[in-house]
Amino acid sequence: MSDSEHILVLVAGAAGRMGKEVIRAVWEAPDMEIVGAVDVHGVGEDAGKLAGIGDIGVPILSDIQSAIAARRPDVCVDFTVAGAAEHGIDLCARSSIPCVSGATGLARPALEAAGAQAEANGVGILVAPNFAIGAVLMMRFAAEAARYMPDAEIIELHHENKLDAPSGTALLTADRIAQSRRVAGAAPRPAPAGEIEKVPGARGARGERTGGVPIHSVRLPGFVAHQEVILGGVGQILTIRHDSTDRRSFMPGVLLAIRRVRELKGLVFGLESVM
Ligand code: NAD
Repeated sequence: MSDSEHILVLVAGAAGRMGKEVIRAVWEAPDMEIVGAVDVHGVGEDAGKLAGIGDIGVPILSDIQSAIAARRPDVCVDFTVAGAAEHGIDLCARSSIPCVSGATGLARPALEAAGAQAEANGVGILVAPNFAIGAVLMMRFAAEAARYMPDAEIIELHHENKLDAPSGTALLTADRIAQSRRVAGAAPRPAPAGEIEKVPGARGARGERTGGVPIHSVRLPGFVAHQEVILGGVGQILTIRHDSTDRRSFMPGVLLAIRRVRELKGLVFGLESVM
């Protein structure tokens, strides 16, 4: 930590929906200070003003590399989008700056390469596709349930501007379910043999399978971030659902990650790793 006794935080993606929420949350945190904000939009504007909390004296800069060099943050928080996030995470690893990223749709090999670099430099990178505590619990409960009810499908519903599908949360949930099935030696019932999508133009109606779990993605205005895990057994259905109705739901998790990432080394995946 810097000698100011505050954790000095740089926010990448500061003009975005999540970035603005992070600016507000970090601004209100008594143990943190915003020292930099980066985005390709709103360059030159004050990050606080953009986030609706008034002038905080932190202008949005366009280039993360020079922002890191100029501001020397203790922690970078990244809520940009895939591509930009991979670049930012890699840069943090090379610059020995701990990084928290919530961006989704990231390429695993790029993350692992950055993780190896971070490990070599003795810093941590925490990547979590969902910072809401309820979503972490939903994934944990779904994994537990899959030991006994291995037949499961996921429906995830997000706002219409979400770029990636399926969501990072759905992918992580499917991964946890698959892992849980393996440990318990529980297998889902095999799909019926033969063609099951006969209607022309209806390909994909059974969802996209990840780890053997079908995922169905809905993108509509009105949603923020929602997910249902449906587990079926003979004569019974168990539904586990989580709804983020406001982006503030992610902020306690983001603040926790900022506080804990400095204790980590290398790539760490999922908020539960620091809970
Ligand atoms: P958004 O489009 O509103 O914001 C992304 C911001 O990144 C934009 O302001 C954009 O200008 C900026 N950006 C793009 N390229 C950039 C670059 N090269 N350098 C700097 N800034 C750049 O999106 P959002 O809804 O805020 O979501 C951001 C990411 O967070 C997405 O990947 C989304 O899936 C993810 N997300 C994660 C969680 C979680 O809990 N982990 C929750 C919600 C959203």
